[in-house]
Amino acid sequence: MDFDLTPEQQQLKEGAIKFAQKELNKEIITRDRKSDFSRGGWNKCAEFGILGLPFPKEFGGADSDILTTLLVMEGLGYGCRDSGLVFSINGQMWTVQMPILHFGSAEQKNKYLPKLCSGEWIGANGMTEPGSGSDSFSLSTTAKFKGDHYILNGTKTFISNAPVADVFIVFATVDKAKGFMGVTAFLLDKNFPGLKVGREIEKMGLKTSPMAEVILEDCKVPVGNRLSKEGNGATIFNDGIEWERSCMLASDIGVMERQLEECVKYAKERKQFGKPIGKFQAISHKIAEMKVRLETARLILYKVAWLKRTQNKAGMEAAIAKLYLSESLVKSSLDAIQIHGGYGYSTEYELERDLRDSVASTLYSGTTEIQKNIIAHYLGL
Ligand SMILES: Cc1cc2nc3c(=O)[nH]c(=O)nc-3n(C[C@H](O)[C@H](O)[C@H](O)COP(=O)(O)OP(=O)(O)OC[C@H]3O[C@@H](n4cnc5c(N)ncnc54)[C@H](O)[C@@H]3O)c2cc1C
Repeated sequence: MDFDLTPEQQQLKEGAIKFAQKELNKEIITRDRKSDFSRGGWNKCAEFGILGLPFPKEFGGADSDILTTLLVMEGLGYGCRDSGLVFSINGQMWTVQMPILHFGSAEQKNKYLPKLCSGEWIGANGMTEPGSGSDSFSLSTTAKFKGDHYILNGTKTFISNAPVADVFIVFATVDKAKGFMGVTAFLLDKNFPGLKVGREIEKMGLKTSPMAEVILEDCKVPVGNRLSKEGNGATIFNDGIEWERSCMLASDIGVMERQLEECVKYAKERKQFGKPIGKFQAISHKIAEMKVRLETARLILYKVAWLKRTQNKAGMEAAIAKLYLSESLVKSSLDAIQIHGGYGYSTEYELERDLRDSVASTLYSGTTEIQKNIIAHYLGL
C-alpha cells in the first residue's frame, strides 16, 4: 500500500477546503435551525466537480481514482460546515450514481448520469420501509409485471433527498416468496404517475439534508426503467452500500481533523486555575485520543480505497471503516464539546451541531450493530 500523496492530490484537497470555506458556510447556524437545504450550495459543489469526481468523463465526471476522490471529500468535510449538504451529496454519489454506472443500460447511463454529475438533477435511494430497516431485503413494496411496464405499490421511509429529488432508485419485490432473489431495482422519475413524496421527516441532526417518505400507489414504471434484470436488486443494493460504507465517511475525517485543530487551539488559549487547560492531563489526553482516532480512521479509510482500486471489493474492510469512523466521529464530537466546556454546548461554537450531525452516522448505511454482524460473518461466525 502506498499512500504517498501526489502534489496534484494535495492541491485538489486544499482546493476543496478553500472552495468549501468560501462558498458553503454562509448562515449555516440559521439554515440548520430552519432545516434549509441549500440548492445553491449543491449547484456550486457540482460546478466545482464534486458530484462527478469518480465518474467517467463521457458522463460529465472527472475519472478520478478512488483515493483522490476520498481526499477531495475529506477536504470538503474539513472546509464545509454544512454536513447535511455533504451527506446529501454523498448519498447521491454512492447510492444513486454508482449503481446506475455499474448496473444501468447504456440508455439509462446516458439519460441520468450527466444530469446527476452536473447537479441539474438530484437523486435519492429508497430501500428502507416502515417495517424493514436493517432487514432490508424483507421489504414489502411490490412490483407487478404488466407487459411493457410494472406497477409499484408500497411506502419507503427515511429517504434522504426525497423532497428535492428528480430521480429515485427504488427497490421492490417481484415475488415475496423468492426472498432477496425477488428484490428488483427501478429508476423512477419524480413525475411518474403514482409516485408521491410524503411527509418530511424532521431530524436531530443533518437538518439541512432533506428527508421524507416516498409513497407508491399504482406507480406505473416502464420496463425500460428497471435497473438491471429482475431479482438483481440485492446485488445492486449491496454494491451501492459497500461504496457508501467505503466512501461516505471520508468527509467526516475532515470534520474530525477540524475538531482536533479547534480543540488544540482552545486548550492552549483557555486558562483556568492560572494555566492553559491543555496543561491538565485530563484535557490533553482527551485530545491525544482524538488524534489517535483520526489517524486510525484515516488509515482504515485509505486501506479501503486501496482495496477498492486494486481488487474492486472490500466487504469486511468497508464494514470496519464504517463502524470505526462513525463511532470515532461521535466520540470525538462529544470530546470536543467537553473540552470547550459550556461554550462547546452553545450553538455559537458550532460543536453541538457536529455532535447532532454525527449520531446519524452510526445508523445510516447499516447500523453499528449490523456492521459488527457483517464483520463477524466474514470471520465465519
Ligand atoms: C440520517 C439517515 C439517513 C437515511 N437515509 C436513507 C436513505 O436515503 N434511503 C434509505 O433507504 N434509508 C435511509 N435511512 C434508513 C437507514 O438505512 C435505517 O435507519 C437503518 O438501516 C436502520 O433501520 P431502522 O431504522 O429500521 O432500525 P431497525 O432495523 O429497526 O433497528 C433498530 C435497532 O435494532 C438493531 N438491530 C436490528 N437488527 C439487528 C440484528 N440482526 N443484530 C443486532 N442488532 C440489530 C439495530 O442495530 C438498531 O439498533 C437513513 C437513516 C438515517 C438515520
